[in-house]
Amino acid sequence: MNKQTPKVGFVSLGCPKALVDSERILTKLRSEGYELTPEYAGADVVIVNTCGFIDSAKEESFGAIKEALAENGKVIVTGCLGVDEGAVREVVPGVLAVTGPQQYEQVVSEVHKAAPQPHDPYTHLVPAAGLKLTPRHYSYLKISEGCNHRCKFCIIPSLRGDLDSRPIRAVLREAEKLVEAGTQEILIISQDTSAYGLDRKHATEVWKDKEIRAHMTDLARALGDMDVWVRLHYVYPYPHVDDIMPLMADGKILPYLDIPFQHASPKILRAMKRPANDAKVLERIKKWREIVPQLVIRSTFIVGFPGETEEDFQYLLNWLEEAQLDRVGCFKYEPVDGAAANELPDHVAPEVQQERWERFMAASQKISAAKLKKRVGMEMAVLIDVVDEEGAVGRTYADAPEIDGKVFLKGATEYSVGDMVMAHIDASDEYDLFGHIVIDDQAEDDDWDW
Ligand code: SF4
Repeated sequence: MNKQTPKVGFVSLGCPKALVDSERILTKLRSEGYELTPEYAGADVVIVNTCGFIDSAKEESFGAIKEALAENGKVIVTGCLGVDEGAVREVVPGVLAVTGPQQYEQVVSEVHKAAPQPHDPYTHLVPAAGLKLTPRHYSYLKISEGCNHRCKFCIIPSLRGDLDSRPIRAVLREAEKLVEAGTQEILIISQDTSAYGLDRKHATEVWKDKEIRAHMTDLARALGDMDVWVRLHYVYPYPHVDDIMPLMADGKILPYLDIPFQHASPKILRAMKRPANDAKVLERIKKWREIVPQLVIRSTFIVGFPGETEEDFQYLLNWLEEAQLDRVGCFKYEPVDGAAANELPDHVAPEVQQERWERFMAASQKISAAKLKKRVGMEMAVLIDVVDEEGAVGRTYADAPEIDGKVFLKGATEYSVGDMVMAHIDASDEYDLFGHIVIDDQAEDDDWDW
């Protein structure tokens, strides 16, 4: 890069979907010849991709904007917080521009104004897979934007609009490029993965000489042929989820499902206006596990939603005990500006929310500890995420990056990030596993789990 090359500072906050937006903006800027820098100082302009979902995320976003303003002065705000430009400008009036989520072109054109585009674009410097903020060995693949549901606690449809699925060929082409660039794990993300293609009436396109529908099942099958780990996030238990069980049983995609249940009590689910609110979901889970015994289910829940009584909460605890979910996150209900749930009666007192949260976490921790204990003695495939002077840290098929547990491999310092190794599991605790790498002749033994 020469001295005239304009530099763009970038801060990316929020969920994996926001991360994918950041990657698209960065790829575009890099292809135009901009230099990217993680520093505020010395950048010609700073972009802050914000999250505006709950109050604590807003605070973090405003904190980052203020810091960038103080250290650099030229700041473009994008992402979910940018939906309400007036509110942003009220708190941080000095920003150059405010744009909303997915407004890539607008962000880029604001950058052009603040730091004119270099004359000689370094198009050839951009790798085919684009620029990634995640490590090279795993990649998030966004298959759609927006959501057709209207859950009462959520403002995402007003921030990101109705479901807008990407064409299936575009998704598969991106996946192929990621795999060619070294990705070993593809994490499918969206707001509602099961609904993928609904807005396109599941239109077919030709991929590798075969007709393929814009549909979750076809997508999972095609990705399963790419010979990397494929992990599905944000799946709602619509009936066609049953169709992907054989793909998991055949080892085509990981036997892992991230289903954001949020609650179990039919009354609360109705009050939340949740999709796929199926009273028979426990039976479905049981059937799935008959077909795929190693299936891992992760989920998130909200406790203390308006109107939740002790009876509703107890229903949730009993349901959890029955469902034996492997990985569980839990949030105390928090009002979000603009969400319909704010108008509901009978908000739950904070101390009751806290007490229910603690009880829920204790119950889920017990299930997680018991499940992990059963893995002690197994040999499992582990994808290494980190190597330092103490050893390596990785994940099995049962754990998504950043949200689930880890496998600690003490002393395994001679391996590299992205290596797939076979590990013997020696011990476990509530959330993590501890093991050692087995030597190759042991690894060739068929007797290992994924
Ligand atoms: S399914 Fe519900 S919670 Fe999820 S994005 Fe859509 S409206 Fe929000």
